[in-house]
Amino acid sequence: MQSLTNRATPVDRRPMTFAEKLYLPAIAKGMGITLKHLFKKKATVNYPEETRPFSPVFRGLHILNRDEEGRERCTACGLCAVACPAEAITMEAAERLPGEEHLYREEKYAARYEINMLRCIFCGFCEEACPKQAVYMSETFAPANYQRKGFIYGKDDMLIPHPQKQIKENNQ
Ligand code: SF4
Ligand code: SF4
Repeated sequence: MQSLTNRATPVDRRPMTFAEKLYLPAIAKGMGITLKHLFKKKATVNYPEETRPFSPVFRGLHILNRDEEGRERCTACGLCAVACPAEAITMEAAERLPGEEHLYREEKYAARYEINMLRCIFCGFCEEACPKQAVYMSETFAPANYQRKGFIYGKDDMLIPHPQKQIKENNQ
């Protein structure tokens, strides 16, 4: 039968020679290849002791930003969720109550904001769509987890620390 490509290799069906039956030349050849690789530059890194540098355009785990007074920037407008091609973002909006002006920047805020990191394809559309500069992608990634729910990141996981509280803690 005529082959479709010329890449077919015929199988060598000749009887084995005495040297081939000894297997020693083949073992020596294999050991030679192993030895050659011992002195080659490793293609792997010893993670977590060693980490690879990220590309300047790397898009990692999301962070939710605060303004300079420490108030949450997100106004639960939902634009990030609409822009998300993976439908990974879920949120619930709530009205800011009197006396909560120091917590939330706008009259509406995200009472619940979740990103399913198993769905996320780290495309960065959410970051681009956000009119409040509330969601950013950082230079880190979601650590491994044994459970699916461990990959659902809530507001507490993503919200950056309050800048003023952080300064107070650092001064103590
Ligand atoms: S990075 Fe892309 S896929 Fe991930 S949450 Fe944002 S928009 Fe959705
Ligand atoms: S993160 Fe930005 S785009 Fe998403 S709901 Fe909040 S304010 Fe809107």
